[in-house]
Amino acid sequence: MSPSAPIYEIYAVKYAGPFIRPLAKVIWNKGWDETIEINYYIWIIKGNGETLVVDCGVAPALAKELQLQGYTNPAKVLARIGIDASHIQKVIVTHINFDHVSGIELFPEATVYVQEKEFNFYMKDPVAQKPPFLMSSDPVSNSYLARLEGTKRLVLVNGDEEILPGIELLLAPGHTPGLQAVAVNTVKGTAILGSDCGHIFRNYAEEIPSCFIVDLVSWMKSYDKLKAKVSSPALLFPGHDIKMLTDYPKVAEDITRLA
Ligand SMILES: [Zn+2]
Repeated sequence: MSPSAPIYEIYAVKYAGPFIRPLAKVIWNKGWDETIEINYYIWIIKGNGETLVVDCGVAPALAKELQLQGYTNPAKVLARIGIDASHIQKVIVTHINFDHVSGIELFPEATVYVQEKEFNFYMKDPVAQKPPFLMSSDPVSNSYLARLEGTKRLVLVNGDEEILPGIELLLAPGHTPGLQAVAVNTVKGTAILGSDCGHIFRNYAEEIPSCFIVDLVSWMKSYDKLKAKVSSPALLFPGHDIKMLTDYPKVAEDITRLA
């Protein structure tokens, strides 16, 4: 990333949880008799006159259907720091799982950035209609996304791409076929929002993904790629670690500053 790139701040926004999970789900094949707490998040990247949202959270209707514990409409959480979801112009979707994309209708003006590989798999590949993939899919937001194809509101990203000076999307498959991480120039150097490439910090520290993995070999390569790009291991953020809420400066209820 160019040293002259603008500096951005990164915020974690918890919109649901905590949820208790078997540890073996979050750390692949480890701790079958242990449990761990996780949260659901979206993230904000702010700086140089821009406010970008990374992932959309879960829509209120689906949250109700799933009876999601500790849920607040992500748009309402964003309002606590003066962000109006209805006027956000850029949303990065890291991957097409319900907890990351279901709330897409909360951002009606946004241009949505998603990897072409991810989009084509979830929208067009018959395998995406098989039970293991349907378990983490939301048909409502998927059909909303499908309707955006061919409009100005959808940007299908092909691999690694700098979408603004100092903000680069990085193709990092493994958890899903075309997950993308987001590298951000911050005051501490290059930080990476890895989303569910790692569910918790331990996935990176121990080099073991979660059990939700479509391609273990690709995951190993993606992790090496992110590790090589990030300025320090502490700046590589996972998708669901409760530490993002508990261990960083609080700026409002359920919102912390990560970098
Ligand atoms: Zn997730």
